[in-house]
Amino acid sequence: MRVHLINPSDLSFGTAVVTPRWLFVLAAATPSAYGTPVIVDETLEPFDPQTIEAGDVVGIGIHTGNALRGYAVGKLARARGAHVVYGGIHATLFPDECHERGAAHAVVRGDGDLVWASVLSDCSTGEPRRVYEGGRVEGDAFLPARWDLLPAGRYMWGSVQTVRGCPKHCSFCSVWRTDGQKPRQRNVDAVVAEVVELRKQGFRFIVLADDNFYPVPLADLAMAARKSDARQLENLKSIRQERFDLMARLAQLPDDLVFYTQITMEAAEDPEFLDAMRRAHIRGALVGVESVTPEGLKAVFKDFNDAGDALVTRLQTFKRHGVHVLGSFIFGLPTDKPDTFSATAALAQRAGISIAQFVLLQPLPGTVDFGKWEKDPSSAITVGGTPLSRYWLIPSNDRPKIYMPHPVMSSEEIRVGTQATWDEFYSLPLIWQRSSCVQSIKARVAFVLLSKLYRQMYANTGMTTDSARVARSAKRARILARFARRLFMAKPMPDLRVPDRSPAAASIALPLAVSPLSTD
Ligand code: SF4
Repeated sequence: MRVHLINPSDLSFGTAVVTPRWLFVLAAATPSAYGTPVIVDETLEPFDPQTIEAGDVVGIGIHTGNALRGYAVGKLARARGAHVVYGGIHATLFPDECHERGAAHAVVRGDGDLVWASVLSDCSTGEPRRVYEGGRVEGDAFLPARWDLLPAGRYMWGSVQTVRGCPKHCSFCSVWRTDGQKPRQRNVDAVVAEVVELRKQGFRFIVLADDNFYPVPLADLAMAARKSDARQLENLKSIRQERFDLMARLAQLPDDLVFYTQITMEAAEDPEFLDAMRRAHIRGALVGVESVTPEGLKAVFKDFNDAGDALVTRLQTFKRHGVHVLGSFIFGLPTDKPDTFSATAALAQRAGISIAQFVLLQPLPGTVDFGKWEKDPSSAITVGGTPLSRYWLIPSNDRPKIYMPHPVMSSEEIRVGTQATWDEFYSLPLIWQRSSCVQSIKARVAFVLLSKLYRQMYANTGMTTDSARVARSAKRARILARFARRLFMAKPMPDLRVPDRSPAAASIALPLAVSPLSTD
């Protein structure tokens, strides 16, 4: 019985930007009695069904975007006589669909880290259960990824997770509902050991693949203090201190490392945290800006963000502290107007954002938005017999780009406006201007290549309705990715060791910033 782990994708680029972490974590969760798992990442190349033999186990991880391809892979694998097991956010939300559409034998809901061994054991005796509840594994039980199984020369950035869960509750996001609102932080030593493992192999760019790297904003601490909630205050202080402990250890690693994470905008009010990030080599962060207007932020339950000039100031604060921002904006919010597109692009440029993404509002299963939309008559419209409320089951060429009706703009207006914003933000002169955020010519070239690659992979393949344009973009992305990879990799450091917990590192771990708590 061989174990295959497959990351499904309709498009393969030969080279990928970020290592799909879950593949290598589940490989670590596979007991050695079953041999070394076969890892297939279809963003590199398509899966070959001939590699599957009767009695094998095929684990397929799906999110809503790749569920349909995942189901096709599952059916092919089952036809070869394998046991087919699904996991991932989409399988957690729709276990029955995996059985009906994807020929599943079993579905794992929640985290697979601990339950995977039981799934394999049941498959080996021919008695897999229909559904396994993996639950939410505590941070100290997260498994390290098997980076020894990485194929050589295929990925540009490594990925390490430091925390799961997010205390916020944005209406378009399913993370807080699936991963929970309680931050589950991983043991610092385990994180550092994985980073060292990746740097040994020559990865100097590493994504900290967290739901929210900044789980305790100062405002939450201040609120706990105001309410005299001593227990909550202690809990929040301890979570925050662990972040500082982690950053102090990361600061001890080689200077050429570059980390990139995901964070809420409130971190701009926390200079100690931003400075600790810079010392820890965290040079960039995806910040969910979402909307540039107060009405837009209210619509997505994100009024802890700022709008207008205050937003520009907050975003510039990140840059001043040496943390570059990848700004994420959503178009198609009910409050958007035709001039929202140009206003957003102008603000992104004015705020000094290094890279931006402009995504279309999509009702993702598991979100508040999806729950509301499912009750709206617009979700019952069918395409080829499939209701829009199950849009991920519609073949991608026939799938609309916009699902929810907008009060003042047509779907096409929103799609064209969004595409035009990508085009403007990623014009060569503007990219070159933004590339001054890095120093050397080599770094500026890498910045330009990454910007172009990002746009080809994301905007042109995800947003256009023209399949010829998708094919052209995928081809261009393939070529760009090959060049870009060389610029991102560094000389391996096979002798690198995990640094000791030195007193110097401990002194970097800052105590809680007390000012917001002492005023009341
Ligand atoms: S969008 Fe970000 S901040 Fe909002 S709930 Fe999701 S992970 Fe948390």
